Amino acid sequence: MAKRPKVCIDRVLPMQEMRMQSTVRRGGRVRALMPIGKLWMNGTTLRVRFLGGSAAQQAKAKEQALWWTQFANLNFDFNNAPNAEIRIAFDSNDGAWSYIGTDNRSIPSNQPTMNLGFMDGGTAAHEFGHAIGLAHEHQNPAGGIEWNESVVLRSLAGPPNNWDEATIRHNVLNKYMVDQVKGTKFDPDSIMLYFFPGSWVKSGLGTHANDVISAMDKAFIASAEAYPKSAPTVADARELKVNAVTRTSAAIGKAGEEDLYKFAVTSAGRHIIDTRGPTDVVMKMFGPNSQTALIAEDDDSGLDTNARIAADLIPGTYYAQVRHYNRASGVGNYTIKVRRA
Ligand SMILES: [Zn+2]
Repeated sequence: MAKRPKVCIDRVLPMQEMRMQSTVRRGGRVRALMPIGKLWMNGTTLRVRFLGGSAAQQAKAKEQALWWTQFANLNFDFNNAPNAEIRIAFDSNDGAWSYIGTDNRSIPSNQPTMNLGFMDGGTAAHEFGHAIGLAHEHQNPAGGIEWNESVVLRSLAGPPNNWDEATIRHNVLNKYMVDQVKGTKFDPDSIMLYFFPGSWVKSGLGTHANDVISAMDKAFIASAEAYPKSAPTVADARELKVNAVTRTSAAIGKAGEEDLYKFAVTSAGRHIIDTRGPTDVVMKMFGPNSQTALIAEDDDSGLDTNARIAADLIPGTYYAQVRHYNRASGVGNYTIKVRRA
């Protein structure tokens, strides 16, 4: 009997789906809105809480999570903290799925952010790949997969997935927009690729399920575009003074580079952090006193293509992550400033 494809649900927040469409932005240039990356700040420690599961299941999840941190500048702390960023259920009736990267912070803390309903092969590593911000490799636009749509729709409408058409289109058929996926070419060995049979595609060539992280997975997750161990981490974030007289000059010096800042808010109130200059950067702000509590993210609310976040902040330490909109090749200078409104 043919192997039944078990396909992971790559959970996307409803708002995210709304943003995945072409939009005319200021200046009239048409560009896809969204794909702001979902990566955590480089060097982040993510806490993990198990919501049930046997000792063996928990041990396997832990082991495969650590496949990533051998190469990525991230840490997992399996401390079962009530408000852990990653909360894992083991409901065998709910398939395998995870929210992606910083989206995890939008899920109420009494709900799981990941389900490991089956743990065949490298399933846990695959779901942890989502948790650290990776998308599905089979949706890589560089993959050039031409689906036999009717076959895929029929197969996934039945058990064990029982998906409706919209879910199948979202999870499998709709290719990700170029900006949203990692910058590598299609990697048939990626752990982020799922097994599907040859009958699903026009070429007749299916994929094999991958049970270990591939050479390209390792190279990508360790690269400047993701979590490089060689680069400054959130622990080395550059300090910004609120209401500094001059703007701080900075640059995305090489493709994929991430700049990290921190600033102290001493009196509660509205604060504005923005970038200026010719470089199209995106920014995320985290805090107070947390490297993972995402407050806001922005692409183009500032002047031209600059990023700007305005928020009411209580006293504490805050962090800002700045990346180029085009992670794969964008570089350039910018300035940054935070002020109390
Ligand atoms: Zn998946």
